[in-house]
Amino acid sequence: MAGPYVMAIDQGTTSTRAMVFDRESNVIALDQREHRQIYPQPGWVEHDPMEIWERTQEVVRNALAKSNLTGREIAAIGITNQRETTIVWNKRSGKPYMNAIVWQDTRTDQICTQLERQGYAQLYRERAGLPISTYFSGPKLQWILENVPEVRRDAERGEALFGNVDTWEIWWLTGGPDGGVHVTDVSNASRTMLMNLRTLDWDDEILKIHGIPRQMLPQIRPSSDPQLYGKTTSFGPLGAEVPVCGDLGDQQAALVGQASLDVGMAKNTYGTGSFLLLNTGTEIVPSKSGLITTAAYKFGNGPCIYALEGSIAITGAAVQWLRDNLGLIKTSPEVEELARTVEDNGGIYFVPYFSGAFAPYWRLDARGVIVGLTRFINKGHIARATLEATAYQTRDVVEAMEADSGIRLAELRVDGGMVFNELLMQFQADILGVPTVRPVIAETTSLGAAYAAGLAVGYWNSPEEIRQYWKEDKRWQPQMDEARREKLYAGWKKAVERSFGWVE
Ligand code: ADP
Repeated sequence: MAGPYVMAIDQGTTSTRAMVFDRESNVIALDQREHRQIYPQPGWVEHDPMEIWERTQEVVRNALAKSNLTGREIAAIGITNQRETTIVWNKRSGKPYMNAIVWQDTRTDQICTQLERQGYAQLYRERAGLPISTYFSGPKLQWILENVPEVRRDAERGEALFGNVDTWEIWWLTGGPDGGVHVTDVSNASRTMLMNLRTLDWDDEILKIHGIPRQMLPQIRPSSDPQLYGKTTSFGPLGAEVPVCGDLGDQQAALVGQASLDVGMAKNTYGTGSFLLLNTGTEIVPSKSGLITTAAYKFGNGPCIYALEGSIAITGAAVQWLRDNLGLIKTSPEVEELARTVEDNGGIYFVPYFSGAFAPYWRLDARGVIVGLTRFINKGHIARATLEATAYQTRDVVEAMEADSGIRLAELRVDGGMVFNELLMQFQADILGVPTVRPVIAETTSLGAAYAAGLAVGYWNSPEEIRQYWKEDKRWQPQMDEARREKLYAGWKKAVERSFGWVE
């Protein structure tokens, strides 16, 4: 019999969460653990996949313990994950051949530059909806095939498996070396550069360009799958056989969790990076303004729903950088207090293009800059400029989105770790000139994964049902006058120019 709760596992860039929801989408329990960020060289970012799986098991066990539940009372599990991060492992041992190459990692810049020189940009735009970028999994997988001994041989024999983190987690949850299933969903697959947006299958010509053997790739399934991907094992962290049947990349999950299920609805999630997604329904809208076209979700036999996305690599991560690399603050939320010690940015701009510029510029040659420094500038201004950079980058993608879709935003639904920063949310409304709106359940990523899983097993009956659970918590109205808004934004644009051309 179907249990009375649904669980979501959110494997994010900095941490892993497990959350238990009830039918009204209330949070019953949450557990969260961070994992190590590994920086072997400038521009390289890795995670240890085994550590990720260990943290996952811990948070699942802890979330059950905190809610006084056993696995038998969980009706279904959904996964959501940091996207693009690339893992290759051995099917028999479960051992990764190397650390996960994280989405922010730029080691594939040579591969990408080469693809650009070969004139492939148009092909990727048309088939995969994406610009050529170090961001996506395809070049990362190619790098592993070319640089890690034995991977190519094992891949050709069908022994080396590729997956993004969703695939890795589902494989382990459903038994790992003992029968784990090797699957992904359309939303995750659309971030590899390897999936054709129309056929929703791996594109053979693209696989050939990268030299990727098809047999190492997971099967692409619906994001909410009544056929179930598989079941958890009784020897796993759930201690019971629970249907695993929801899978969404974190940003697409947030779109679902924000109940932005109609054409024209948009959300922005402020985490390590920030990601603005606009639902374009069944239409694949190509971007002329530097956005990407992505699969948003596919529920069962329903059609694939697409989105336009503005991906910003570094927003919350810049706050972490102030904390970890500069030691200006001890915890991320302290950035607000520090920023409030000054009245404004003192004339400086911080463009945090640590991994090159993502949307809407897609410049591999960009790196971070702070401009406008004078003797007057103190750490308060740096903190303020860091928060403002998040809002300016969001405006850059909102402008691109309006240009591509012709849809003028009336308000922006927001979520993610940074939306508890009041200064940022007000400044965001000011710089956009439209309100920012935070829902009661700001854990939209986990909620979206829970919805996907729950819809698959009939725990929730229809997308219509989940719309009714979205409730407004707080709204910030724009207060800045237009002249000041445009002056500040013009300064940002100038600063952005200064970041280009820094690396070859
Ligand atoms: P992810 O899912 O990408 O790991 P989260 O949604 O958990 O990210 O958000 C964490 C990010 O938000 C971190 O980069 C952190 O620095 C930032 N962050 C968290 N709280 C605040 C805050 N109050 N003000 C500014 N940044 C914050």
